[in-house]
Amino acid sequence: MLRYLGFWLGPQCKDKLIAALLAKYKDRIHKIASAYTAQAATAVAYNRDAITVMGYHAQLLVFPREAYDLEAKSFSHLLKIPHRSFATDLPFKLKEVGSVNFTSLQVLNFAAMYRTAIKTIPDWEEIYRALHAAADEYLPISLRVDEKLCPAFWDTEPIVCNLRSAVQGFPQILQNPRAVKQALRNTRNSKHIQKQVSAALLPILHPMTLPAIFRKRLNSMLPELGLHIRAIDWDAALSVLKQTKRCFASICCVKTWCNAWTTSARMHDAQQMSCLFGCEGESDNIQHYLRCERLWNPIFQRLRISP
Ligand SMILES: [Zn+2]
Repeated sequence: MLRYLGFWLGPQCKDKLIAALLAKYKDRIHKIASAYTAQAATAVAYNRDAITVMGYHAQLLVFPREAYDLEAKSFSHLLKIPHRSFATDLPFKLKEVGSVNFTSLQVLNFAAMYRTAIKTIPDWEEIYRALHAAADEYLPISLRVDEKLCPAFWDTEPIVCNLRSAVQGFPQILQNPRAVKQALRNTRNSKHIQKQVSAALLPILHPMTLPAIFRKRLNSMLPELGLHIRAIDWDAALSVLKQTKRCFASICCVKTWCNAWTTSARMHDAQQMSCLFGCEGESDNIQHYLRCERLWNPIFQRLRISP
C-alpha cells in the first residue's frame, strides 16, 4: 500500500483511505459546531472549511455510506437540533427560506467526479480500455462474469471505473440514471461545469420539496390539525420567509415546523422539564409552546392583536 498525491493506493486500502478522510472532516465539523454561530454563518463556515476537505478526493472516489451518515449527524451537531429533524434534504435547500444552503456531499462528489471525467482527465477512456483488456486476459472468469476489472482483494473500484460511471450518470448508485444523464448532458459545454452540474443534480439527488417536508413534520407533530395543515399556502409562507431581512427568524420558523427545538420531550430526556415560561403542570414540549399563554400573550399585546 502506498500514498500517492494524497490517495492511498493498493489492495485493501479502503479503510485507511476513508478513515483518514472522514477523521479530518469530523474534526472540522466539531470546530465549527464549537463556535455556536447562527445557521447562516455556520453554513458558510461549513461550506468553506469542512466540506472542502472532501473536495479533492471527491474527484475520483465514490464516497461510502458512512460518509453520508456522518454528514447527517453533523447537521444535528452544527445546528443543535435533534438527529434528522431537518429530514435528509432540508439542509441543502435553506436558501429557499432566505438563508444559506449547506453543500451536499453527494452533489459535491458527483459534480466533482463528472467535471474530472470531462475536463481534468478526458483521456480516461483509453486507460479504461487498457484495464479492460488486461482484465480479459488475466482475471478469472468468475470475476469477469460480474464485470469486475480488478482482483477480489482490491476493496475499492478502479478510479477509471468511477470516472466512467460519472459520465454514465452513476447507474450503479442512482435509481434514475436517465434523469441524471440528461441533466449532465445539458451542462456539458458549460464554462463553470462543476457549478452547473451541482445546480442540475441538487433537485435530482435531493428531491423532497420544502412544503412536502414541512407538511410531513407538522402532520406527525399535530395530527389533529391535518385539515388546516393541508390548507396552508406554502408558496406564500416561503415567499415571506425568503423576503425577511433576518434569516435567523426564518430558521426559527423552520425549526418550529420541523419540531426541531431541543425540548426535553423531543430529546426523550430521562428528566422531563416543565414549561420554560413557568406554566404550572405543562411540560417542555412544542405542542404546549404553540399555545403557551405566557409565551404568546406578550407577543399578541406587542402586535396589538387579540389572542
Ligand atoms: Zn407555558
